[in-house]
Amino acid sequence: MKYGAFKVVAASLALLSAPALAAPITKTLSVDVYQVCNDAGLTVCAATGPVGNAYFTDSTNKIWAQAGIGVSFNFVSKVFNSGFYDINDGVAGDGFADLAAAYGTHGPSATNVDMFLVNTVAGAFGEGWFGAGGLVMAMQTIMNFNGGLGRIDTLAHEIGHNLGLEPASLGGDAGGHVPSNATNDSLMASGAWRNVPTTLADINPDGLGYDKLSLGEIAFVLDSTLLRDIPEPGTMALLAIALLSIAGSRRRAKARS
Ligand SMILES: [Zn+2]
Repeated sequence: MKYGAFKVVAASLALLSAPALAAPITKTLSVDVYQVCNDAGLTVCAATGPVGNAYFTDSTNKIWAQAGIGVSFNFVSKVFNSGFYDINDGVAGDGFADLAAAYGTHGPSATNVDMFLVNTVAGAFGEGWFGAGGLVMAMQTIMNFNGGLGRIDTLAHEIGHNLGLEPASLGGDAGGHVPSNATNDSLMASGAWRNVPTTLADINPDGLGYDKLSLGEIAFVLDSTLLRDIPEPGTMALLAIALLSIAGSRRRAKARS
């Protein structure tokens, strides 16, 4: 009996010291989606993600839940432009900067994240501005990764760049990545050496613990102007009371006139 009781206590302590499964969601990031299509001859558009999991919503949200950030998507429009269906930063006028300048909020934004889904990006899975909203996803390359399972953390990684990771103050290298001698389990390790999970079950804090965010990274990104606060329940109640009283005073004002 004593042994049994001890075991229960030990298990409770282990639970207490284990990392939280997910922080409460206190901030949201809304991503505006532009799907680029090749309209040369017949209309073919860049893929939007796995069936039932458009834009890799599941893995993106599980990764950013570590920081208490929920990510939502708002499909804006298709973009019919054959030149930008396959982009190449090495060709004048055909790079990510050119695409971002032509559509959406027209370049790096302090308040908006525009996501451009294209077919391929020469030499990359994706690209994102450093410390400003705007990213591109090479959907054919991403979808074909891992025998068709898809590279499920590319979007979360590019969002990390938009939120300013990895800053030099946290040891980031010239490319905005966690250096190669640090953990490969970091979300912000370069794609050249990052451990990419094949399933949700291996995203930190579960399984193999891939796509980890450090406490320093979490504190840093929560200051980003790209995020919106989620009102706390108390604030929501106050807001509701305020709205009701405004509605009441409007009715009274109308009644007098
Ligand atoms: Zn990167």
